Amino acid sequence: MALHRGKSDDAEQSLAVNPFFGEANPVAGMATAPPKHRLPDTPLTPATAYQLVHDELMLDGNSRLNLATFVTTWMEPQAGILMAECRDKNMIDKDEYPRTAELERRCVAMLADLWNAPDPGTAVGCSTTGSSEACMLAGMALKRRWAKRNADRYPGAGARPNLVMGVNVQVCWEKFCNFWEVEARQVPMEGDRFHIDPQAAADLCDENTIGVVGILGSTFDGSYEPIAGLCAALDALQERTGLDVPVHVDGASGAMVAPFIDPELEWDFRLPRVSSINTSGHKYGLVYPGVGWALWRSPAELPEELVFRVNYLGGDMPTFALNFSRPGAQVVAQYYTFLRLGREGYRAVQQSTRDVARGLAERIEAVGDFQLLTRGNELPVFAFTTADDVKAFDVFDVSRRLRERGWLVPAYTFPENRQDLSALRIVCRNGFSADLAELLMEDLGSLLPELRRQSGPLKRSESVATAFHH
Ligand SMILES: *Cc1c(COP(=O)(O)O)cnc(C)c1O
Repeated sequence: MALHRGKSDDAEQSLAVNPFFGEANPVAGMATAPPKHRLPDTPLTPATAYQLVHDELMLDGNSRLNLATFVTTWMEPQAGILMAECRDKNMIDKDEYPRTAELERRCVAMLADLWNAPDPGTAVGCSTTGSSEACMLAGMALKRRWAKRNADRYPGAGARPNLVMGVNVQVCWEKFCNFWEVEARQVPMEGDRFHIDPQAAADLCDENTIGVVGILGSTFDGSYEPIAGLCAALDALQERTGLDVPVHVDGASGAMVAPFIDPELEWDFRLPRVSSINTSGHKYGLVYPGVGWALWRSPAELPEELVFRVNYLGGDMPTFALNFSRPGAQVVAQYYTFLRLGREGYRAVQQSTRDVARGLAERIEAVGDFQLLTRGNELPVFAFTTADDVKAFDVFDVSRRLRERGWLVPAYTFPENRQDLSALRIVCRNGFSADLAELLMEDLGSLLPELRRQSGPLKRSESVATAFHH
């Protein structure tokens, strides 16, 4: 969570209470304005408290117009009802809520099947709060497997483990390496290659490499990394050197897209070198925020000593998680969505989302002021920049002006080696319909004449660059 400063300078500031909110007892209900930065001394009525919080939240953005996020912003009312029914259920109380635990187990089994685990009965997995937690767990398993191998090979050696990845990884991998003291070895971007290169990744591996992360797909531009190519390069490395380096696929978005609309693409457990996969249930899994999944090919990929059995809640169910208590509602909603859509439903939803992305990318290209970096034909996500001859404005200006119309389209610079490149990115999700895309095009079309008349890009400090959202 955002790291906030504790004590505020204006501790005495209070909230403004509208007399209209007043309750039967005016003294208790309205006369005392509650402080903003201190716990109030006395209670408020529920109606007043509700109105104060509700009104302040009106200034949050409209999530459906947020084209920066990958996270689900629309579910059907029935999903909302189920989630409300489960908001008191604690995922960790497997004994108290055995049916919730069973639904979690079924979701893991369905994902194992969807991701072509060789023998679905032997794949193991768990739900998490999102892909970040799932990646931490997968990374911990890789690190522990390396430590065990290393202890056998070089007893007593104090070697430093490393993890190989593209420079385009989501920030969770930088967190993993920082928190668990693993060296992050990053393959840089090169020219028009905005993600990992298999050979360059294999070249970075040595006996202390705990694994290689492949991303399906990259948050920078929505492209799929070449997972099969990565495995092939590592197969060749093993033949040459004997090093057997496992691959983890960060399928935060793509693991819920590719199985449905790119069934021929081999990226999952069909590749023997893929030892674990994660996804965000709350991205293209189509569930509201708060759920992710981590799966391992077989128990051999998940060292037993990382798994805890907590018996004081009554049961003796093995768990692998960073959190202890966690809401059950999201897992139930994931099961509901699996049941509700099935393969055909997911295929239809993801295909129409991809159609919107491709159509919108083409129309933006046709405007003439922009140059596409990707076309929305892998993840339903595309990145674009201004055409070479556009000198009057830059991507940050476009982002800022779109924001005036309520659209959140982030502009950001690319990392090392391509820091010269700044781009805009549009993430199409279920609920961002062709009609909404049409409205976005209309707004862009009406802004462009003004942008073209600018004498040059507004300086960065003047334009409010939107933060890059993974
Ligand atoms: C979103 C994302 C993550 C982090 O996932 P959360 O579910 O937000 O924790 C990790 N990796 C990739 C590739 C992502 O797109």
